[in-house]
Amino acid sequence: MFKISCISTCLMFTALIANAQSRNPKDTEVWTPVPKIVSAPVDSQVAPADAIILFGGKNLNEWITVKDKSAAKWTVSDNSFTVKKGTGNIQTKKAFTNYQLHIEWKIPVNITGEGQARGNSGVFLASTGGGDGGYELQVLDSYNNVTYSNGQAGSIYKQFIPLVNASRKPGEWQSYDIIWTAPVFNEDGSVKSGARVTVMHNGVLIQNNIELTGETAYIGPPVYKKHGPSPIKLQDHGDPSPAISFRNIWVREL
Ligand code: MG
Repeated sequence: MFKISCISTCLMFTALIANAQSRNPKDTEVWTPVPKIVSAPVDSQVAPADAIILFGGKNLNEWITVKDKSAAKWTVSDNSFTVKKGTGNIQTKKAFTNYQLHIEWKIPVNITGEGQARGNSGVFLASTGGGDGGYELQVLDSYNNVTYSNGQAGSIYKQFIPLVNASRKPGEWQSYDIIWTAPVFNEDGSVKSGARVTVMHNGVLIQNNIELTGETAYIGPPVYKKHGPSPIKLQDHGDPSPAISFRNIWVREL
């Protein structure tokens, strides 16, 4: 019995070796397509060569006011722009599906208020419905400011708490690097695949390829509504605290 079992094991082993020897390591090499060369900047804050510049420091030509589609009225100065409270949300002229986005923002050093009323803005990863609709990555002073965890800086508002709080002090520039995969809908409006997002805050991973449960809702649960390619939107929150600023915004379509 032992002999038979040994013979069969030995035969199997020999066959495995023969099989491995008949294969070539080249069998599993893939040579095409060849990834396009994109010269990466030395400074990681500089846009890669194939990025679309959404704000390069001079003007808001790539942005419009959401409510009436007029030119964006936020204030440009010193290579950045600041929310002009009361003029409303602004969004990109161009619509996007899947992308990599870099955006920098600064809570003013003289910030006042507390909770959600302290430097509140937001990056809507897809602006839907022409108003407040979409998926909000929260912008807020969360350096030393208590609020609900799923509403602090880096949260997907009222859906996902950031993995850590990587906030810098008011007065210091902060960055979000975002990889957004848009939701896909069936003909009847049902969700084929939900939106996914990965976010780095100041270079620290805070959202790791999470699947959103729907559009941001202030009251009630998130719900998906069918949409196609959508602009990126920035929030004029309307609270009385000093306005926040943005700079160096670029996007790479994927
Ligand atoms: Mg907000």
